[in-house]
Amino acid sequence: MKLLIIGGSDAGISAALRARELDHDAEVTVLLADDFPNYSICGLPFYLSGETPDWRSLAHRTEFEGIGIRRGHRATHINTAEKTVNVSSEGAASLTFRYDKLVIGTGAGPVEPPIEGWRNPGVFLLHTMQDSFAVHRYLETAKPRRAVIVGAGYIGLEMADALTHRGIEVTIASRTATVLPTVDAEFGKSVSEELQRHGVKVHTSVEVDRIAKAGGQLHVSGSSHFEQDCEMALIAVGVKPNATLGADAGLDTGIRGALVVNRKMESKLPDIYVAGDCAETFHRLLNRHTYLPLGTTAHKQGRVAAENALGGNREFAGSLGTQVVKIFDLVIARTGLRHHEAQRESFHPFAAESTANDHKAYYPGATHLRTRVTGNAETGRLLGAQIMGRWGTEVSKRLDIFATALFHGMSVDQISDLDLSYTPPLSSPWDPVQMACQNWSGKVDMIAAQKVHV
Ligand SMILES: Cc1cc2nc3c(=O)[nH]c(=O)nc-3n(C[C@H](O)[C@H](O)[C@H](O)COP(=O)(O)OP(=O)(O)OC[C@H]3O[C@@H](n4cnc5c(N)ncnc54)[C@H](O)[C@@H]3O)c2cc1C
Repeated sequence: MKLLIIGGSDAGISAALRARELDHDAEVTVLLADDFPNYSICGLPFYLSGETPDWRSLAHRTEFEGIGIRRGHRATHINTAEKTVNVSSEGAASLTFRYDKLVIGTGAGPVEPPIEGWRNPGVFLLHTMQDSFAVHRYLETAKPRRAVIVGAGYIGLEMADALTHRGIEVTIASRTATVLPTVDAEFGKSVSEELQRHGVKVHTSVEVDRIAKAGGQLHVSGSSHFEQDCEMALIAVGVKPNATLGADAGLDTGIRGALVVNRKMESKLPDIYVAGDCAETFHRLLNRHTYLPLGTTAHKQGRVAAENALGGNREFAGSLGTQVVKIFDLVIARTGLRHHEAQRESFHPFAAESTANDHKAYYPGATHLRTRVTGNAETGRLLGAQIMGRWGTEVSKRLDIFATALFHGMSVDQISDLDLSYTPPLSSPWDPVQMACQNWSGKVDMIAAQKVHV
């Protein structure tokens, strides 16, 4: 059995490793356009900040026993009738690879913005290892003093932290009304304060439309009278699926141009599976597909695709959009739906925020954790949660309690029944997660009681 995988990052390598585990006789080959199989592009901001000085340490693994890794092999055409893939590789004539089963994991690329001058030297996009080398080289040789980051999503903000770490003055310009628009504005405001506390200038509701080269520097301009000189600009305004190869082979494209798959990660064509950022993502709560490009999801989908390609019968359980980011000393995490998202889906949401110490106040170092819980006010079912706190307050693992509860369709109330661990330096007899749920339930009960009295 020839299993051919196009893409050597999270989805592709995860598929290859699972295939290797399941069938030692299968011939597993991974084609990757670049030279960096299984590198953690999630780690790029930390390489560029200097905190992880050697890019080689970003490799999740370097040994791929029993897997044919073909670096620098770009798939150019899939012939579904012949079951072959044409490949271009530097220094070689056009190559052809045969497959019995094919997994496409070609990932995503950065959105190229409608900004005049974004291809000027000193302006960067960041998605691949090569992108990071270009940024690194520029940082080392041009030694920019000031940088403008266009976009205030998690990559833009991680890079604001990274460049500040290197002593560069950073200005953020974002078209959104608050930074980190994937969480509620109340949290976005605090993230903005954290950025400013570290010297980052934050401009929101700004549409950057031009980056001009002026003498030895760049001039970035946009709406709301935004004008900023700098020596470097980084554009991080979202990603788009690399779906052309699959689409040209006859696969359907759907949400945001991603390749359409079912929960087994099967495409509409026989023996062709798709996984990772190039594919649509099944959302567990919405019970339909959406587009949520994340490393965590790509790993799971790759594994499911390989299992089914080898004759298995596994379904991708679904994403909840669970994610976390650290910006300077602040950690912000979310899972599930926010109030307005739940409302859009006709869920009858109610959201409540509460604040609690991350551990007992009598033990040194206690700090506030803010938790926003969204639940269905009619059924009591948990719909989503967001947590923000200082680094070291276990924000992400606490958020994962909510993610687990969502996975199992639990009510907000049931979370109080969970037997969670406690010792004073780390939590309270009621964990802040449970206190937030009790606060939510209390408010919902109060509103219901008021309605009865009216
Ligand atoms: C800076 C940054 C930080 C991030 N941080 C996080 C994080 O903290 N948490 C998180 O969950 N996610 C994070 N992500 C997102 C995460 O990295 C992606 O969701 C994940 O890498 C997707 O994996 P993938 O395998 O689908 O695609 P990609 O990682 O995009 O890889 C695509 C692969 O396909 C290959 N390829 C493409 N076209 C061809 C072709 N025609 N022929 C052969 N090979 C081809 C490429 O060479 C590459 O190997 C981050 C992303 C970035 C850029």
